[in-house]
Amino acid sequence: MKQQDIAVIGLAVMGRSLALNMADHGFAVAAYNRSYAVSEQMAKNHPHPHIHIYKELKDCVAALKKPRKVMLMVKAGKAVDMVIEQLVDLLEEGDIILDGGNSFFEDTIRREQALRKNGLHYFGVGVSGGEEGARFGPSIMPGGNKQAYDKIRPILETIAAKASDGKPCCTYIGENGAGHYVKMVHNGIEYADMQLISEAYLQLKYIGGYTNTEIAKIFKEWNAGELESFLIRITADIFLASDDRSSQDLLDVIADSAAQKGTGRWTSIEALKQGVDVSMITASCNARVMSNLLAQRHQAQILYPDRKPLQRKNDAFVETVRQALYAGKILAYAQGFALLAHASSQYDWQLALGEIAAIFRAGCIIQARFLNDIQQAFTKENPASHLLFDPFFAKQLQTHQQALRDMVAMSITQGLAIPAMANAVSYLDMFRSSHSGANLIQAQRDYFGAHTFERCDMSGSFHHEWRRDH
Ligand code: NAP
Repeated sequence: MKQQDIAVIGLAVMGRSLALNMADHGFAVAAYNRSYAVSEQMAKNHPHPHIHIYKELKDCVAALKKPRKVMLMVKAGKAVDMVIEQLVDLLEEGDIILDGGNSFFEDTIRREQALRKNGLHYFGVGVSGGEEGARFGPSIMPGGNKQAYDKIRPILETIAAKASDGKPCCTYIGENGAGHYVKMVHNGIEYADMQLISEAYLQLKYIGGYTNTEIAKIFKEWNAGELESFLIRITADIFLASDDRSSQDLLDVIADSAAQKGTGRWTSIEALKQGVDVSMITASCNARVMSNLLAQRHQAQILYPDRKPLQRKNDAFVETVRQALYAGKILAYAQGFALLAHASSQYDWQLALGEIAAIFRAGCIIQARFLNDIQQAFTKENPASHLLFDPFFAKQLQTHQQALRDMVAMSITQGLAIPAMANAVSYLDMFRSSHSGANLIQAQRDYFGAHTFERCDMSGSFHHEWRRDH
């Protein structure tokens, strides 16, 4: 029998879609799922001449060309370790395991180290774009051994989405956990982007007084300009969907309580460990947490009732919301990329931020026109150390920040929850502050704990006997 190019282990929505994507591009795929019924279902519903289903893992692995390439698309966590344990006995030196799930980057670092001792290469591969991305072209973030990358590059770059300039949305990210780290931060940015969009929706609805149909039209127009992105496009569609079970708009019957799987939270915790401010991502995780308190929120509304929606319906108002959203978006991406820059030196990954922005331009959830600008900002000869120092983005924020401030002020007065936008303003103000108040905090620390302080006018560490003055 013809030898297979790659194995895909785990045939749930992501594994099945990736296997079909590989097969469509002419790669011979050996497919395996722990529960054989799932494999049979796939063979029945999605028959493909380039996909061969195996009942036994050992037969699936034995069918592969050497060096063998095995892509795991199983549930992140313990399942990955369990499958690796079975694979170790079936693989030999030089073979390659790729984990395409949303694994935590520290697990990937641990697994890569352990498998290196067996002579196996291990890649943590971030895959973004959901089912459709996996099926027709995701954004792919592979991390692992650089030399071994050449062996998997042809498959990954062929199945990846292609940006508008034709380049594949897949590039070697760095050693060990780098790929999963970048995917984690991608998801963190995604949380902030979605939260910002939902805040703009609240503003249009409860300050502007716009209907869902009108908001859909506004989002369509926005999507023709600098806000053009996958999320703005699908959001315009969402406003137009009607409910099959009632006469209402579908959006209005969806419970106001958002779920999360954890990658946003990982980003936030990791940023705290690194000492990098990703307050907008953290605020977006917290917004989902708070949204889940439906009973308490209902109780609180009686004590602290909503204000009557305003009717600020006019083009100037819509333009202010648009600019506020754009400014917020710049700040959210700036926070995410600042975390990547810090992690790059912390973990010695030499992350190419421009290349990372480039592979986010298509296939993934945060794909957006302005990623071209981020790519350019980070691929210049002397790139700025932070996105907000780049001349293009500095100009954008200088012109749009007033709209952001106006919308935050207006929303707070109206009692609308806008944690991402509010944190965007605070981040910018901390970032540009000549006086952050930290001098007073150092004085307090020295007062109660003799933690010492530094002075502006001379070097060294100082302590003051504060109680002596009173
Ligand atoms: P999933 O629901 O996360 O996982 C189900 C798959 O894992 C099934 O094939 C299941 O096999 C297998 N599995 C679970 N425990 C196992 C074990 N102990 N041993 C062997 N196999 C085991 O599937 P998914 O949604 O397709 O996602 C796959 C990965 O991609 C996950 O890490 C997910 O976080 C990531 N991801 C998902 C999306 C998305 O939009 N869904 C997007 C990007 C990344 P059985 O059928 O035998 O139970």
